Amino acid sequence: MKKRIVIKVGTHIIAADDGKLCTSRFEKLVEFLSLVMDKHEVILVSSGAVATGFSKIKLDKKIVSNKQALAAIGQPYLVQYYNEFLQKHGKFGAQILLVSDDFDSRKRTQAARDAVNTLLKNNILPIINENDSTAVEELVFGDNDQLSAYAAHFFDADLLVILSDINGYYDADPKEDKNAKLILHVDKIDESKLCQNINVGSKFSTGGIVTKLKAADFLLKNNRSMFLANGFDLSDVKNFVLEGKHSGGTLFAPKKL
Ligand code: ADP
Repeated sequence: MKKRIVIKVGTHIIAADDGKLCTSRFEKLVEFLSLVMDKHEVILVSSGAVATGFSKIKLDKKIVSNKQALAAIGQPYLVQYYNEFLQKHGKFGAQILLVSDDFDSRKRTQAARDAVNTLLKNNILPIINENDSTAVEELVFGDNDQLSAYAAHFFDADLLVILSDINGYYDADPKEDKNAKLILHVDKIDESKLCQNINVGSKFSTGGIVTKLKAADFLLKNNRSMFLANGFDLSDVKNFVLEGKHSGGTLFAPKKL
């Protein structure tokens, strides 16, 4: 059965540390998106505008207004890259810029939903990012994890997939603890886990695991599911989304009664 799936891509997946697009990873990612689009409805939430902007001009990213400027510079390039690669599969995408506050307003949520639904009906990939000129929440902390959870909920998706630099959710930070074990299923998130110190993966990342757990918590509380998987090696997410096989990655899903 056709599902509606929001796929969120972290900056680190598409850009190297110098902000340059990592072409081979990007190509594989877009190929994957295209395969999912053939089976399901796909909404993409993509980070990476700041990194892309930084590959064009080196502004000091410690200053928030510089990050906003970098996002403004990078965003059109990012969408252009998606379209260049999607074209190889006979598809294209469309940019939707949102802020979390848009979901506070029923009118704005409905307007965004109408736009997204129409794009999906025409097999066009909605490419969502935060509108960093008017909101800086995700730019400063979150890297679109929260925005993607809102998109999944308010656009009525069956699943949010977060692609990160990690295989899933572990019982400890795998970068610090070699014995950390991957957890395949999570149906409830302990409050204490939602207020840990963040440990972000790369110099362009801002999310860390806590914003992902918050996204999962929000969705679980709304009876929805999230799948956290590796975006460098797409085999687990391919197995899960395209074949229905859970070989790796963490599924946050409400307990079936
Ligand atoms: P992204 O850029 O994809 O949004 P981040 O790099 O911000 O992702 O966050 C993922 C990072 O969170 C991982 O690389 C890992 O180092 C860290 N992390 C901390 N605790 C955990 C945990 N329990 N399970 C998985 N990752 C964790």
